Formats: sequence, C-alpha cells, structure tokens
Amino acid sequence: MSQSRIQVLSSKLANQIAAGEVVERPSAVVKELLENSLDAGAERIEIDIEKGGIQLIRVRDDGAGILKDDLALAISRHATSKISSLEDLESVGTLGFRGEALASIASVSRFHIKSSTDNQTSGYIAQAIGRDLKVEIAPVAHPCGTTVEVRDLFYNTPARRKFLRAEKTEFFHIDEIVKRLALSHFHVTFILRHNQKVTHHFRAAENLSEKEKRVSEICGKSFMAQALNIEMKNEGIHLYGWIAEPTFSRSQTDLQYFFVNGRAIRDKVVSHAIRQAYRDVMYHDRQPAYVLFLDVDPAVIDVNVHPTKNEVRFRDSRLVHNFLFRNVSEALASVRPGDQISPEHAAPIANDGGYQPDLKNELHAEKKQPTQYSFNMSPKKYRPQIFSVSENVEAYGRLHDVQSNDDVPPLGYAVSQLHGVYILSQNKEGLIIVDMHAAHERITYENLKENLESHSIQMQPLLVPVEITLNEKEMAIANEYQQIFLQFGIELGCIGEDTIVVRQIPVLLQDADVEQLVRDVLSDIIEHGTSERIRHHFYDILSTIACHSSVRANRRLTVPEMNALLRQMEETDHQGQCNHGRSTWTYISLKDLDALFLRGR
Ligand code: ADP
Ligand code: MG
Repeated sequence: MSQSRIQVLSSKLANQIAAGEVVERPSAVVKELLENSLDAGAERIEIDIEKGGIQLIRVRDDGAGILKDDLALAISRHATSKISSLEDLESVGTLGFRGEALASIASVSRFHIKSSTDNQTSGYIAQAIGRDLKVEIAPVAHPCGTTVEVRDLFYNTPARRKFLRAEKTEFFHIDEIVKRLALSHFHVTFILRHNQKVTHHFRAAENLSEKEKRVSEICGKSFMAQALNIEMKNEGIHLYGWIAEPTFSRSQTDLQYFFVNGRAIRDKVVSHAIRQAYRDVMYHDRQPAYVLFLDVDPAVIDVNVHPTKNEVRFRDSRLVHNFLFRNVSEALASVRPGDQISPEHAAPIANDGGYQPDLKNELHAEKKQPTQYSFNMSPKKYRPQIFSVSENVEAYGRLHDVQSNDDVPPLGYAVSQLHGVYILSQNKEGLIIVDMHAAHERITYENLKENLESHSIQMQPLLVPVEITLNEKEMAIANEYQQIFLQFGIELGCIGEDTIVVRQIPVLLQDADVEQLVRDVLSDIIEHGTSERIRHHFYDILSTIACHSSVRANRRLTVPEMNALLRQMEETDHQGQCNHGRSTWTYISLKDLDALFLRGR
C-alpha cells in the first residue's frame, strides 16, 4: 500500500506562495505595475486607486504594449522579456527582471490585463482562470500601451487580508511608492487618483527648474528652499541630486530618497555615509533630508538581493561609502556658516539672548561628549546641595563610628559605595544597603509633589533654549498642555509647525536631559488621554521627571554625599520604595550576618 504523499503544487498555489514575498500589501502591487510601465517606456502613467488599493488598483500606460502571443506568457511565472541569461542579469537596466510579479498578483486578486502594441489594430484582454491559471484571451479596444486592473486584492488569501491596515494607511504607502518613482523618472507624467480624486499630477519635467518643482511637490517647499543641488562624477560614479542644508533636518528618516541606477533603495552603507557627512553640523538625533541619485556601471552592483528589489549590493561598498561621505561633506562645507541659519530658524533663539552660530557649533561639540549624555547628572555640574546637607559635613571619606555613638540615625552612616550602585551603611543593628538611584528618585519625587501642591516649583531659564522637533500629534499635545507643563515648571513655546522650544525648566531638573524629559512627558500624556484624566496622572508625570533628575548608577558619591542622601531618605515619605515600587533599601542585621557565618556570640 505504497501511496505517494508528495504532490506538485498547482500553478495557482505556487504563485500564491510566491506572492507572499512579492506582494506584501497594495503598495507593492502598485510598485510592480509602475515598474513594468516604466520598463515599457511609458511617458504617461495613470494610477487609479480605490479604498486604499484593496478594492481596486488600475495602472494605465502609453508604453510599448504586449503582443497578443506574449500576453499569456506575461502572466505566467518565470516569464520575462527583460533578461534571457545570467549574464544579462549582470547588466540589467530595467526595473523588473524576475518575471514573477504579474503571475503573483494575478494569483491573489481578480486580475486582467489589456494591451495593444499600436494604435491601429485591436488590443487584447487576458485573464488567468482556475487552479492551473489557464489564460483566456479576447479582443478589446485599447490604444497603444497597457492597462492592468487588480481588484479585491487577497480576496482568496484571508491570512494576508487580515494584515491589511486602514484604507488611509495603505494609500499612504501607495502614495510613497508613486512619489519615489516620480522622483526617479522626471520625464514621465504621473497622475494618481484615490477614490476618484486626483491626489498628484506630476507633469513631465525636462529642465532643472521643472525638476525642482517636482521635488518641491514631493518633499515640500521648505526642503527645496534649503536644498543644495549637487553633481559630481568621479571614479566611474555619477552622483547628483539635492541635499538639504543641516538647518532643514528631520526627526524621522522620511525625507531620504536614494536611487541607484534609477532604483529606489534603502541601504545601510549609503545612509551611514550620508549621516557621517552631516555629523558635525547636525544635532545628534536629527535626520538629514536628501534626494540623491547614484549612477554606476550595473556590473558593480547586484540588484537581485531580494524579491521586492528594494536593496542592492555594492561589489565595493567601501568605495561607495567613501565617495558619498567625501562628496556630501564637501558640499556641506561649501555652505558658509551664516547661510546655515535661516531667518525663521534663528529669530526665536536670537530673542532669547546673544545667540551666535559659533556658539551653536560649540554646543554641538559639547553635546557630543558622552558623559553629558549618558548621565542625567554630569559630574562637572553636580551640585551636592540637591541633597541639602543638614548637618555637619564630614571630611571627605572619614567614617562615623557607630559602636560608641549612641545617636546613630535609623539608616546609619555610610561606609562605602558598591559598584557605583549601592550605598553600604552601618547602623547600630547591622548593615543597610541602599539603591542610590531608587532612593534619590523617591526623594525628588516627594519633593516635586510637595512643590506642586504648594505651587512653588522653582524655575530657571535655560542658557540656550532647547529646540525639539515633534510629530503632528506630539505638537498638538504640546500646544494644548502648555499650561500644564508650566505647572510642572517647564516653560515651552511653539516656534514652527513641528518645533517647540523649551525656555525654562525646574531648578531641580537643571541637570536632566531636557529633550528626553519633554518627549517622555508628551508620550505620558498621549497615553493617558484627556485633560481631566491628566490630573489623575500628575504624579505619574512627576515620577517620570523624578526618574530623569535622579542620580544614575555608576556615579561616585563621596561619603558626606552618601550620608546626606541617607538623612534625606529618613525625612521623606514612602522612602522605603522608589516610585516604581522597587525598594530603595534593605537591611541585614548583625544577627543574620552572624548566622551566615555560623558565628556564635
Ligand atoms: P518582469 O517585470 O520581471 O519581467 P512581470 O511579471 O512584472 O515580470 O512582467 C512580465 C512581462 O510582461 C514583462 O517582462 C513584460 O514583457 C510584460 N509586461 C508587463 N507589464 C507590461 C507593461 N505595462 N507594458 C509592456 N509590457 C509589460
Ligand atoms: Mg515587472
């Protein structure tokens, strides 16, 4: 009773499996169809989308069209007109070459393709039917070019369908694909419609000013206003496009377009090289903006790295890295420092007193020192009075004697610090171990709470106000909660569509990382909702603040500082726990210690 268990997959199933890689979401379909149109030499492409592409994607082009006899092949897997040998792949100049897009798309949607190779004779419509995807062909009126219609995407693959996001999100991805291809094909007209409304109409652009108009439509006027047009050719590499001056930076990587031989790619080597070039002129967490084209001999790149063809591999990535880094750095250096401060950018800061571009550069440099960042309280600026030493301060390092002293406080006197994290202290009964970060956090928190209750958070202006770029949602929240921030002692203002400036902060927080603090408070508010509710979360926010202002692990404290901290703990409510509920200290009695060593007394 030998029965075979292995079967050959039906064409349809095989294609559906391949579709899993190529067609991730509607935008991937749009990408494949547009690439086909561009490969066919189209000069005008119309894209109609309905319901985020889930209901309909239709791409119509005026390209070369497909011969009747090729139509069936066009929608079968592993059929392409673009390469015929492995050597061809080495020098491939088209966007497509794998011959699997149409077959994959057809297997997971209601699909047809209409095409004609001239304007005189009739065109044909082709559809793949059934398990084996038999192609049916019939005459149809169609001008020279091709129209592909994809309806009800993933109707037969429910697992995929479940991963689709809201219509708006899917359209956002489609929009992004169209923009990318429009940037790399200036000579082609693109019209994009969503639910019958035109969302983009990019007219064919020939000269520089027409091209810059398109770039500005896609990347925004302010990008174009601050963009440098660059072009250089060397070592067989041609690099050209636009890079934004450092003043036009982003919090996200959303305005980074890079094309290799006309193909939009995301590549670590590339983004790293460009980031490095901007490093000295841009705040550490800002992202540069650019639209750059790199043309190289196709033989020095490998485009067949991934089915979606969003990546390439450079044969010599060092060369590319150096070329990019050097040329972008030089282009940026050619901008005079004064040029870098655009009027709208400089003005609000200038109002806050004595602002000079040089100063700003110095601050960049200073900010890069890791100590200033990795610790919320930098040793240099550290002020022991935060612990408000209330009794006679010991000489540095001298220890209290607890045995002959009758007046030992509950948390004892510090002996030493362990691994920069724990304070070891002895009282009459034994050993106290204090988590200094947790303890300090609790003290700060209780302090803030008291101050808040008595409306007396002491504020202090920042020498150089801190600018923070926010997304739309954070921006709205920052606007709405300005007053509430003020109650916490944080004075901020909006100085642009996506930027706020922090002018004053609580004295208690003078050593905190202001930007991180504001961002965290904003996300707290976003999480906790409305203004009524925020009142209930006052303390949560204070706790966030306290955490930021507290001594981080690994900071060396002197013995008097440790004792001061212990004394403050004794005066603080709830001092047994930090505000995250971790305990701030623990105690081991001498009796327990004796038992540990089996020492009888
Ligand atoms: P690939 O693009 O990798 O060759 P596809 O499955 O995307 O594979 O397309 C298969 C073939 O169908 C292409 O090689 C091309 O000959 C033809 N084709 C697809 N779309 C078009 C179009 N819009 N205009 C002309 N020919 C097309
Ligand atoms: Mg293709």
